[in-house]
Amino acid sequence: MRLSQMLFVTLREDPAEAEIPSHKLLLRAGYIRRIGSGIYAYLPLMWRVLKKVSQIVREEMDATGAQECLLPQLQPADLWRESGRWDTYTQAEGIMFAMTDRQQRELGLGPTHEEVITTIAKDMIRSYRQLPLHFYQIQTKFRDEIRPRFGLMRGREFIMKDGYSFHTNEESLKKTYQDMAQAYSNMLRRSGLQFRAVDADSGAIGGSGSQEFMVLAEAGEDEVLYTEDGQYAANVEKAVSMPADAEPSPFATCEKRETPGTETIDKLCKFLKCSPTQVVKNVLYQAVYDNGITVLVLVSIRGDQDVNQVKLLNELTKLAGNYQAKTVLFLTVPDAEAQRKWAAKSLPLGYMAPDLADDYIAGSKEVNSKFLRLVDRTAVDLTNFVTGSNESGYHVVGANWNKEFPLPAMVVGVRTAKKGDRAVHNPEQTLQSARGIEVGHIFQLGTKYSQAMGATYTSEQGEEMPFVMGCYGVGVSRLAQSAVEQSYDKDGIIWPVAIAPYHAIISIPNISDAQQVEVAEKLYAELNQSGIETLLDDRDERAGVKFKDADLIGIPYRIVPGRSLKAGKVEVVERATHKSQEILIDEVNSTLKQWIEAAIN
Ligand code: ATP
Ligand code: MG
Repeated sequence: MRLSQMLFVTLREDPAEAEIPSHKLLLRAGYIRRIGSGIYAYLPLMWRVLKKVSQIVREEMDATGAQECLLPQLQPADLWRESGRWDTYTQAEGIMFAMTDRQQRELGLGPTHEEVITTIAKDMIRSYRQLPLHFYQIQTKFRDEIRPRFGLMRGREFIMKDGYSFHTNEESLKKTYQDMAQAYSNMLRRSGLQFRAVDADSGAIGGSGSQEFMVLAEAGEDEVLYTEDGQYAANVEKAVSMPADAEPSPFATCEKRETPGTETIDKLCKFLKCSPTQVVKNVLYQAVYDNGITVLVLVSIRGDQDVNQVKLLNELTKLAGNYQAKTVLFLTVPDAEAQRKWAAKSLPLGYMAPDLADDYIAGSKEVNSKFLRLVDRTAVDLTNFVTGSNESGYHVVGANWNKEFPLPAMVVGVRTAKKGDRAVHNPEQTLQSARGIEVGHIFQLGTKYSQAMGATYTSEQGEEMPFVMGCYGVGVSRLAQSAVEQSYDKDGIIWPVAIAPYHAIISIPNISDAQQVEVAEKLYAELNQSGIETLLDDRDERAGVKFKDADLIGIPYRIVPGRSLKAGKVEVVERATHKSQEILIDEVNSTLKQWIEAAIN
C-alpha cells in the first residue's frame, strides 16, 4: 500500500479522550476512531492487526479440533428466559442491549452465546455417539458496559472469539479445557504478549474450574496475586491466602468504653492502642434477589481484613433458595438513601455490633425483616476482642463469642487476599501483586445451561442426560490493544512482528530524487511479491516527518533508500531498538525474511 493513496492521518498531540498509552497511541496513529461512547471504527491499519490476531486464534482453535461457525447476533428473548438470564442481563446487570421488534417480540443483541449454542445442541445432538463437540466463532459482541473506557479495552461493541464444548462427562470436559488452556497460551505467546494464566472466579456455579489469561500491564483493571515459585496465581476476586496471625488481646475483661470519633478501624485502634487483628468489624451489605426481596447482610470480619464482594456474592447466591429466589441481582453497601428505604431508626454506623438488633429494619413485603448474619473465618477464633456496642461513640472491649455476642451460625470465607499474605500451598511464599488485562477466560460450565434449557442427549445406557459444557472466550480487539499497552516507547507503537499491520515500510527521504524513487519502487514490488507486507511512504513530505510517522505507527522494519544508495545499499532500521544497518539492496529481501521468521517463531 502507498501512503499517498491511504487515508493516513496522524496526530502529534495526545487526544484528550484517552487516558492510557495504548488508547492514545492507537488514536494518534490513526488505527481507530471513536464514533460514540464505547463504539469505535477499526480503520484499515487496525483491521489488518485484528485479522492477524483472528488468524492466530483461528489456527490455534482449529488445531484442537474445534469447528468454526457463525451464530446470530440478534437473539430472541425467549431463549434467555429459558436459561433464566433475560432479567439479569437486561435489568440487573443491564449489560444486554434489548429491543422490541415491530411484531412486539423482544430481542437482545448477543453479549455472549451460551443460549444460542445450547438450543442448537438441544435440537441437533441426539446421542452420546456425536460427542464431544466444540464450536467457536469470531464475531462482534455487544455489551452495554456501564463505564466503557480505554478504547478497545472496554468497548460496547467489540470482537470476541467464543467457543462452546459439549461432553458426556467431566473428564471429557476437562480434557478440552486443558486443550484450551494450551491453545490460549499458544495464541498469546504467538501474538508476542507477556501473560499469566490465573485462577478465576467461576461465580455462583461454583465447583468447576475457571482460568483467566492476563496480559501483564500497569493499566490492567484486574489485580493478580501470585507467588515467585510459579505455583500459584489467581485473580484477586478468587485468590486465597493465609491471613497474618492475630495478636493476643490486651483486654482481659469485658467492658463498654467511650470511644468518641472512632468510626473507622484506624481511628479506633489508635484510640484504644490495640491491633486491628483484635477487632471484630461488622460491615453492612444490601442484597436484592431476583424476586425483588431485599436482604440486609451483616458480615463480621477481623478488623485488619476486607470483605471480598465477589466471594460474598457467591455465598449469597447459594442462599437464594432461603428467600424463594434463584439469584442475586444487586449487592451493594447501602448508602444513606438506600438506608432510608428500610431503616426503622438511624443506624449506629461505625459502631455496629454483631448482634445489631433486627428492629433496625422496618420489614415489608420487599425487605426481609431479619439481618442475615455471616461471620468470616478470620473473626471466629478471636477472644477478648473489640467490637461495636450498637451505640454511637462507644465500643466493647474484651468480648467473646457466645458470651457477649452469639457467634453467627453461618461461617464463611469472604476475606480479600492481599499482597504480602502467606500462600496456602507454602507459607514461606508470600503473595506478590501485579496488574493484568483479562484477554481470555476459559470456564467449565458443567450442566448449568443444558439443565436450565432442557438440552439433553441419549446416553449409552439409553438415559436422557444434560450436556456437560465448557465455554472459552478471547477478546480479540482487547488483545490487540493490550499488545500496544505492553509494547511502546516515546516515539509510538512497537508492534510484535506477528500482529503488526505491515512488516516493513519504505520511507523515501526525498521523492524528487529519481534514484531513491526507483530503488524504493523496486523494493516495494519485490518485497510484497515475496510475502513481506510492505508500505511505501511516497508522500511529498520531509524525511523527518516520514520517519516520525513510521515510528508512531510501529511498523517493525523501516527501509530508507538514502545516502547509502551510492554503495548500493539501503538503511534498515529496527523499530523496537532503533538499531540501523546498511544492507545491500539485493539482500534486503532475504535479510528481512530471516528476521521476520525469527521474530514470529
Ligand atoms: P470483564 O471482566 O473485563 O468485564 P468479562 O469477564 O465480562 O470481562 P467474558 O465474558 O469472560 O468477559 O468475555 C471473554 C473475553 O472478552 C474477556 O476475557 C475479554 O478479553 C473480552 N471482553 C469482555 N468484555 C469486553 C469489552 N467490553 N470490550 C472488549 N473486550 C471485552
Ligand atoms: Mg471473564
